Amino acid sequence: MDADHLSRRLATVARYIPQGSRLADIGTDHAYLPVNLLKRGIIAGGVAGEVVRGPFENAQHEIQREGFSDRLTARLANGLQAIEPGDHVDTVAIAGMGGTLITNILTQDFDRLAGVTRLVLQPNVSANQIRQFLMTHGFKLVAEEILAEDGHIYEVLVADRTTETVSYTADELRFGPFLLAAPNDAFIAKWQHEAQRTREVLQQMQGAKQVPTAKVAALTAELHQIEEVLAHARA
Ligand code: SAM
Repeated sequence: MDADHLSRRLATVARYIPQGSRLADIGTDHAYLPVNLLKRGIIAGGVAGEVVRGPFENAQHEIQREGFSDRLTARLANGLQAIEPGDHVDTVAIAGMGGTLITNILTQDFDRLAGVTRLVLQPNVSANQIRQFLMTHGFKLVAEEILAEDGHIYEVLVADRTTETVSYTADELRFGPFLLAAPNDAFIAKWQHEAQRTREVLQQMQGAKQVPTAKVAALTAELHQIEEVLAHARA
């Protein structure tokens, strides 16, 4: 992968970055995403944030090599601290991390999102935590994607700022409102895998000397929830 050839995962993230926006790509690594978007004339500019020095230097090098230092700033910073008021950032992308880390990043310096109207988030796991965050922090999902690449399944969540009250059901938080409404092969594969994993854990628990009954009950309920959604998805 490079800035001219994004992975399918990052290309999906890129599709949801609005034309003319000012982007903060948090956890940018090589800055392939913002450099690709600049090369294609999609973003006006922005910030490439990284908390680790090695990837930060990769980003700096890539930006200089492509001649974008006047429009894209690499910053060594933790999460949203990479965003400064003078950047006029209106869109934030956070890709390639777990949902818990993405949620922590968004929560820790929430005030830095003051001018931000769109979030494009790509959790590798635990997307439910991000949906819960969006619902309680004035953002509304406007699109979701799920895709398989190189043996992994990825979700992409796109959310816009809203003044509406947003409320997702337990199923929507877990599976995603848009993904539930139009389940594709990747969705089915992901949840079949989750169901199988849950069955295995349950079997181990039930074979234990002291069966943890509360945990078994909670996992059994989760398994039923998944099986029900899968039954509808295949129907
Ligand atoms: N976003 C790129 C992508 O999707 O291909 C790179 C993903 S890479 C797996 C995750 C990157 O996030 C790493 O370079 C890591 O150093 C960075 N990172 C992790 N926690 C961070 C934080 N709190 N603030 C900024 N960057 C962070």
